[in-house]
Amino acid sequence: MGTPVESTLTSTAAEHRLWDVIIVGSGPAGSSAAIELSRNGRHVLLLDRNHFPRSKVCGGCLNPAALKMLDGLGVNAIVDQYSTPLMRSLLFSDRQRAEIPLNQTRFLRREILDAALLQESIRCGASFLSGTLATTSQVNETCRIVRVRCQSREIVLRCKLLLAAQGLGSGMVGVRIVQSSGPKLIGVGAEIDAPGLLPLNTVGMAISPEGYVGMVQLECGTLHIAACLSVARTARFSAVDAVTRILARNDIMLPSSANAKWIGTPPLRHKNSTVATERLLLIGDAAGYTEPLTGEGIAWALASGAGAANLVADSKSIWRPDMDVAWQKHYARLVGSRQKRSSWIGQWARGKRAAAILVGVCQRAPWLATRVMHHLGRAYECGQARNS
Ligand SMILES: Cc1cc2nc3c(=O)[nH]c(=O)nc-3n(C[C@H](O)[C@H](O)[C@H](O)COP(=O)(O)OP(=O)(O)OC[C@H]3O[C@@H](n4cnc5c(N)ncnc54)[C@H](O)[C@@H]3O)c2cc1C
Repeated sequence: MGTPVESTLTSTAAEHRLWDVIIVGSGPAGSSAAIELSRNGRHVLLLDRNHFPRSKVCGGCLNPAALKMLDGLGVNAIVDQYSTPLMRSLLFSDRQRAEIPLNQTRFLRREILDAALLQESIRCGASFLSGTLATTSQVNETCRIVRVRCQSREIVLRCKLLLAAQGLGSGMVGVRIVQSSGPKLIGVGAEIDAPGLLPLNTVGMAISPEGYVGMVQLECGTLHIAACLSVARTARFSAVDAVTRILARNDIMLPSSANAKWIGTPPLRHKNSTVATERLLLIGDAAGYTEPLTGEGIAWALASGAGAANLVADSKSIWRPDMDVAWQKHYARLVGSRQKRSSWIGQWARGKRAAAILVGVCQRAPWLATRVMHHLGRAYECGQARNS
């Protein structure tokens, strides 16, 4: 699912230019930055080690802030056509359940969303190299040099500014990654045949100290699963067994689905020593990630992509020496504060009795949960970088 997206130039053609901006990683962070920069007339090269459409472990839930940004990025027709409205969230813990009404929230498979954003960035003028792995980057007086591997060829690319949007786990940019001191978490996901397990237009979330399992039931009978597991507490089990156990504790019986293809992520919680250095800005998960319980990662990625592009829009020479400090400050205001709050909620919810308390509060005061969801989905001020 999702439309194939081909390279728009050869690696040899890419090698012979000094690009305004090279973006490593064509997920929501990289593609949103490419769209905004190309609209501003910058010469952008976007690259990705994968070929699109590609799958990604993700719940696929788009909150109101993400939907608003996607509208501004010009992919609303695809979102309208292929996404499913989510009317409610069902929280499960210790065999209790609570329902939270949702507003302006949709589910969309990442294969479709990411290919649509990438296609839009190409339509806006960005160049794209598919199946291209960035390995290292260094800075010299006039540009940043990025070494990449493309069709078994090592090539050297040059740019005035590099945006690192490579998601979790890839250290190619030369910024030190600090793993969080909290419990190690990994993400796993699959789609399995399980008609009628949950009501339609519902996102289910089963929470336990071992982790949490998010689920969306699709009309075709498929259950879309994205889970976040504590490595320490589930190390003895396979991904499917860990997910099955968390669900079984809430009387949700997952049918055995031998053919399901489970995919995983590197450790989720990390932060870097910095989100900017000379001629390099980090955006999206590459800039630091907490955890997915509040379903905000796509909004963080889109906001940081657009925020970085807005910072560049005001700079005639693309890079200016104070840009790293400006991005650190703007990133902290734009996304950093929301990530801290999400991290706190996620860690707290995995506490021994916390999830049961959370479900109890949501049962008794659904209005409170609705207000929290409304707060989490409020719009981002991506343009404020100009005034930083
Ligand atoms: C279990 C789970 C559930 C989630 N559920 C939700 C949810 O419901 N809603 C939500 O908003 N968020 C959710 N998220 C978070 C969301 O998936 C991420 O925050 C989001 O994908 C970040 O986008 P990105 O563009 O930064 O990175 P990515 O989407 O990961 O894209 C990075 C791209 O970089 C490419 N790449 C990596 N290394 C290199 C390299 N060296 N060279 C070239 N290319 C490279 C990769 O191929 C990839 O295409 C969830 C995450 C997990 C783990």
